[in-house]
Amino acid sequence: MAMEGLEKKADMIRKRLVEVSIQNGAGHIAPSLSCVDILTYLYYQEMNINKDPEWEGRDRLIFSKAHGAYGLYAILSDIGYIDSKDWEDFYNGSFLKGCIERSPAHGIEAGCGALGHGLPMAAGVAFGARLQSLPYRTICIAGDGEMQEGSNWEAIQFAAKYKLKNLIIIVDCNGLQAMDTLSDVLSPEDFYKDLMGKFSAFGCEVILCNGHCMEELQQAFRAAQEPLLQKPKAILARTVKGYGIKAMENVTKFHFRVPTKEEMAKGVRYE
Ligand SMILES: [Mg+2]
Repeated sequence: MAMEGLEKKADMIRKRLVEVSIQNGAGHIAPSLSCVDILTYLYYQEMNINKDPEWEGRDRLIFSKAHGAYGLYAILSDIGYIDSKDWEDFYNGSFLKGCIERSPAHGIEAGCGALGHGLPMAAGVAFGARLQSLPYRTICIAGDGEMQEGSNWEAIQFAAKYKLKNLIIIVDCNGLQAMDTLSDVLSPEDFYKDLMGKFSAFGCEVILCNGHCMEELQQAFRAAQEPLLQKPKAILARTVKGYGIKAMENVTKFHFRVPTKEEMAKGVRYE
């Protein structure tokens, strides 16, 4: 898909996820919006997938920051892995929950939501591919606040030791976590630089990009495909929490809060 087409697709996904979430009273809209462009790029451009969600050769996506799953659900519905009725009834009687549960038949590779567990699973899946000489890649989307969990760093040590170059970690770097900014909770003031240093020190190839720019996401994945790099890759994607709804962008209180009509009236970035 052309870059312009990807941007239009991301706008459609944003619009749809906001409509369904507000209609069903589902609150995790802001952490979902920060990674819509990343997910759109992955599903419509980058990942090796086909119509069968359980096709053996597929790239595996493990969505560790599972509170922000609404964009993922909207995309899985759009590509036909999830029935549109299940998506429309999300949080309101369908099998789709606020945090994701494993369902390979619907394209959901791993149950996540207890933070810091997706990346350890992704390292295991990537190691499994290596042991079986299978060519698929394992991609893990983690939150930046989530990277405070120690289990992630154990997984990264494992991935680096076994030179899992088939593992790509994308960190949704929006600078906010559930209740506050990263730097007001546990991270240093420059959390982005801090993450760069940590990933590099733990043996990853670090790649930086703007997580709302399709061209930069494409360049980041091209860099991650460098065949001579015998390391796991960490793409640190700069994003804005609540991206697309002006009243929500970068505002901490919206981690789990549905916007009011007045807040929505302040405008949106998508068509
Ligand atoms: Mg965050």
